[in-house]
Amino acid sequence: MPFDSAWLRNFRRKLRAWYDRHARELPWRGTRDPYAVWLSEIMLQQTQVETVKPYFERFLAALPTIRALAEAEERQVLRLWEGLGYYRRARQLHQAARQIVAVHDGRFPCDPQAVQRLPGIGRYTAGAILSIAFDQRQPILEANTVRVFSRLLAYDGQTTSSAGQKLLWAAAEAVLPAREVGRFNQALMELGSEVCRRPRAHGARAPACEACPVAGLCHARQRGLQGEIPRPKPRPQFEDVAEAAVLVRRRGAPGTPGRVLLIQWPEGRRWAGLWDFPRFALKGEKEAEIHRALVDNVRRLTGVTISPGEHFKTLHHGVTRFRITLDCYEAEYVSHNGGGAEQLVQKWVRPAELEHYPLSSTGRKLAGLV
Ligand code: SF4
Repeated sequence: MPFDSAWLRNFRRKLRAWYDRHARELPWRGTRDPYAVWLSEIMLQQTQVETVKPYFERFLAALPTIRALAEAEERQVLRLWEGLGYYRRARQLHQAARQIVAVHDGRFPCDPQAVQRLPGIGRYTAGAILSIAFDQRQPILEANTVRVFSRLLAYDGQTTSSAGQKLLWAAAEAVLPAREVGRFNQALMELGSEVCRRPRAHGARAPACEACPVAGLCHARQRGLQGEIPRPKPRPQFEDVAEAAVLVRRRGAPGTPGRVLLIQWPEGRRWAGLWDFPRFALKGEKEAEIHRALVDNVRRLTGVTISPGEHFKTLHHGVTRFRITLDCYEAEYVSHNGGGAEQLVQKWVRPAELEHYPLSSTGRKLAGLV
């Protein structure tokens, strides 16, 4: 047990009193509907609260129940998720909803093992849903609470090591009160997000210990180590990547609108399930070789032969550790020679229909230029 009983009593009392006064109003607070709690927890993974708010409200308005989500087409689910990134989360949410309907008659299970068997739900998410929606005495450990517990304990080891995880989960379990566990877990996360903050560049958002309700109980603060704990993770090495996207147009009969070629990314690819304009990695081709690369790669992806045209846009964006420069080219359809080597699902789409297709964020930007 990392804390003694007097410490625990004090900690719970102070944290609860602080949360009663300082809890932010967020669209998913105040609900105990496990579906809404689950949705918010999945959306909040790797994503800021302010970004999630409108997505959460829109998603819930369109698909208000587990059953509605299970019955929705994947295209609608991904379209509602479009722009949030990490699309695997949306696909797993969808699969899990179908599993809940098939196995649990549409009711979110309250058995921890059953919850963790659902796609996309690990120990943290299960603990959050079960404590918030069902008031089960389940611990949680996520980015905010890792920081809080590391500092409370003055733990200066690697938080991702197995020893670190063991200690931090034990702390998360030890602090749990006997009642109102969900509210208490939310208070812990709120403390980490709003007070016991992550230092950013130049220390602009270092922990606000002077405003912290549990400062008197914090070992890092007592030792003046709050700015050094938790130990920073090694910085990811960014990799520059050059890619090309091709806007392939196919003229319609006179008086009818033309169409553009979309592909759907298959399972296992970065944007699995999303639609996109044909795109591929460049291999340092010189200017004179670019047209050849466009023809070869569009044919490889789709079986379509094109007549390449002008470069019309360069987009810069980041995906995980990749910094991508995307050069965008126009092209005209020439012929179709059967499936390309990659056999990607493809569709000719009228410009006005593009809004119905879930696209990658750069795909959406390109769609705005069609
Ligand atoms: S005293 Fe500072 S470091 Fe300790 S828990 Fe509070 S905000 Fe975090």
